[in-house]
Amino acid sequence: MAQKFQNYIDGIWCDSSDGEHFENRNPANWDDIIGHFPLSTAADVERAANCAAEAFKSWRLIPAPHRGDICRKAGDIMLRRKAEIAAIMTREMGKTITETLGDVQEGIDTAFYCATEGRRLFGYNTPSELPNKLNLSFRVPVGVCGLITPWNFPMAIPTWNIFPGLVAGNTFVFKPAEDTPHTANILVEILIEAGLPKGVLNIVHGAGEVVGAAITEHPLIRAVSFTGSTKTGRIVAQACGKLTKHVCLEMGGKNAQIVMLDADMELALNGVLWGAFGTTGQRCTATSRLILHEDIHDTFIQQLIGRAEKLKLGDGSIEGNDVGPIINQKQRENIERYVAIGKKEGAICVLGGERAEDGDLKKGWFYKPTIFTGVLPNSTIAQQEIFGPVLSVIKCNSLANAIEITNSVDYGLSSSLYTKNINDALLAVRDIEVGICYINAPTIGAEAHMPFGGVKSTGNGHREGGWAVFDFYTEWKSVYLDYSGHLQRAQIDN
Ligand code: NAD
Repeated sequence: MAQKFQNYIDGIWCDSSDGEHFENRNPANWDDIIGHFPLSTAADVERAANCAAEAFKSWRLIPAPHRGDICRKAGDIMLRRKAEIAAIMTREMGKTITETLGDVQEGIDTAFYCATEGRRLFGYNTPSELPNKLNLSFRVPVGVCGLITPWNFPMAIPTWNIFPGLVAGNTFVFKPAEDTPHTANILVEILIEAGLPKGVLNIVHGAGEVVGAAITEHPLIRAVSFTGSTKTGRIVAQACGKLTKHVCLEMGGKNAQIVMLDADMELALNGVLWGAFGTTGQRCTATSRLILHEDIHDTFIQQLIGRAEKLKLGDGSIEGNDVGPIINQKQRENIERYVAIGKKEGAICVLGGERAEDGDLKKGWFYKPTIFTGVLPNSTIAQQEIFGPVLSVIKCNSLANAIEITNSVDYGLSSSLYTKNINDALLAVRDIEVGICYINAPTIGAEAHMPFGGVKSTGNGHREGGWAVFDFYTEWKSVYLDYSGHLQRAQIDN
């Protein structure tokens, strides 16, 4: 009998208002049912939003360093439970244990970073234009925040939001992805053990179109942080816009790795192998385009194929496997659709291009690492996010040409350039239209204390990570203290 899991609202684990559940299965083995989770309704969001609003009244008054202490304790607990959490994550979303350990570590790093931010949360003090007057500005919490997350970083992404949001004094209604509800419940458990008061963090499981939509439409929820596809992000933005909510959108990518003639080829090969096929290509920062200088193209591709075909597909919980399954049936079908389009548009599939169904793989959503050469920069597989282990290789003839191709997509999340030429590197840093730029490193590998996010259709100007995320989770309050003892009128008296 599969385990039954619950929502957590107002400090109580509870079922959805109408008692319905959905099933969560292991993508590497359909027969392995992880559990049943509440298929919640708008009424559950209503309850969660109301109690988060009630809890906000006292949570905002707790000194920020004490709120930070709770994050630090959560980080300690995560450290203690790291291996156990990684195993739970791999079971429900498929990536290898090494990668899920990294996902938990990102949460731990974020916890410790945010804990110390509780002792900063700096504002600005400026001179007043009038005598005997003091001007101060403070960061204050926004209020109740909604958090809607995807499945590919089930621990890192929620912690990127919840920890800084809590330290800043906000309360939360959290809706995790349907494919990774178990990891989300573990995070709630950890924060309860760390001493979070009831009502401050509420988790409501269920469908995006119901629970997610109810969060975006609820008037008590003043800010919504969304990470997911650009298609859904636009729906979220419209709903939030109607109620003038803060909205942070972290969406899709079509990230390119450029390899120039003078690059360290070994480094570039290892970079693209990890960037394109790590997490089975299911990272927002995954390398989905490889832009190769035409003079090294054939040799590079030959070596890349040689390495990529050695990658071992399989259950991510088994040591030695390099590439786990695709998250679900729908996404594997989506990849198949794009591969068919690539072939139809004239690209050459030089590796993979099909499901992996041999032996132990037959009960999982596995898909072979796939490489297309002869891809035109404006073709569908060079322009649209596939979110799978599919690499589109495009030829370039100069750095300027490579940058032009890199910038020719709607997205602008991550990029990478391999070169030994410092001038080329700095030119690329200046001209590539992205939020994250790597030189001689793959497109993946963000650090917890650096701003994370993208431009163009990837984002809406906000950043997660580091100090930048506090701009989203706080409002500015300006305070003027007049100790002159008489009426002073700004502008008019000067
Ligand atoms: P998705 O857009 O399908 O779902 C994301 C979340 O939105 C889920 O929790 C889902 O239930 C919810 N949702 C769905 N419909 C909704 C609606 N109408 N209103 C409110 N919420 C709704 O994305 P996914 O498949 O879970 O994740 C993959 C996508 O996420 C990729 O596009 C990837 O690039 C992106 N991603 C971006 C980042 C980033 O930081 N830029 C990080 C990770 C993933």
